[in-house]
Amino acid sequence: MTHRVVVTDAVEISGLHPLIDDPAFEVVSVDDSSSDEFFAELATAEGLIVRSATKVTEEMLDRAPTLAAVGRAGVGIDNVDVAAATERGVAVFNAPGGNTIAAAELTMALLISVARKIPAAEASLRSELWDRAAFKGVELRGKTLGLIGAGRIGSEVAIRCKAFDMDVIAYDPYLSPTRAQELDIEMVGFDQVIERADFISVHVPLTKETTGIIGRDSLERMKPSAFVVNASRGGVVDEGALAEALHRGVIAGAALDVYEFEPLPVDSSLRDAPNLVLTPHLGASTAEAQVGVATEVANKIRLLLETGNRADAVNARQLG
Ligand code: NAD
Repeated sequence: MTHRVVVTDAVEISGLHPLIDDPAFEVVSVDDSSSDEFFAELATAEGLIVRSATKVTEEMLDRAPTLAAVGRAGVGIDNVDVAAATERGVAVFNAPGGNTIAAAELTMALLISVARKIPAAEASLRSELWDRAAFKGVELRGKTLGLIGAGRIGSEVAIRCKAFDMDVIAYDPYLSPTRAQELDIEMVGFDQVIERADFISVHVPLTKETTGIIGRDSLERMKPSAFVVNASRGGVVDEGALAEALHRGVIAGAALDVYEFEPLPVDSSLRDAPNLVLTPHLGASTAEAQVGVATEVANKIRLLLETGNRADAVNARQLG
């Protein structure tokens, strides 16, 4: 008997080779997850793979009686009703590792863009100006990078910043001293990162503790020459406080890839804040990352359907 896996949301099919190359699996791709065709396929599927567009709701799960696994080709699982899946014995997998390098490289791009004012200089040139004086930047070399969160992405950013001759300090209460030593990172408290760093880059999940961790108070305590970069999760930076700090010149600049509300509202105070680089949640948007996250969930679903192993599921503990 073959295991049927339904794929939707323009998941990168070439990344699904662990399933496609195995005759024990049948992969069915249906672009529109609201179509009758999708629900007809889902009715006999054991696996479902989505990106972020499809909402895997209780109602959808009720129409998938044979489903054993949902795979989210990406990190965040906000679009999957995990509690409803758990109630129905469905394992939920995500792909936290597949886009690590993409997010780390975007962070480097943001650090350099804001330090050298590249987006503003480009816009100025395109508006037929040749203004070199307005765009004098600063170098990364010899500066201190302050990481808040030094997990997968933060570590890769540290490695890259070391290659730029930066000193790296980090606040991450869960980082082991051995790992910090391996990465040549000085582990410090949150206040030290805020007060010592020239560039602060945030790489934490959005939790109760991290919501608004970069807020008015921490911005006020940063060096006036400091830059803040957030390519982790919206809500970690207090957007109103940041916009105000940039208008008042409390810090030198900032770059954001993620926002409290996405798409960024038209009337967001960030849109006209000075010295701010904005990208529309591009951290995982590389060809390689899209293949990587698809392969990561495909491997996890394959393992589950072949062996019953669901240890990697985000709801493994609840499933027992
Ligand atoms: P990870 O789990 O490997 O690392 C997160 C680190 O944050 C861990 O080391 C953890 O110990 C630390 N941490 C947790 N709570 C903390 C706190 N209160 N203070 C300081 N550190 C704390 O995750 P990752 O793969 O490195 O991802 C980091 C973030 O980037 C996540 O929020 C993820 O969703 C996001 N992300 C964004 C994009 C994008 O498109 N911009 C792409 C991929 C990942």
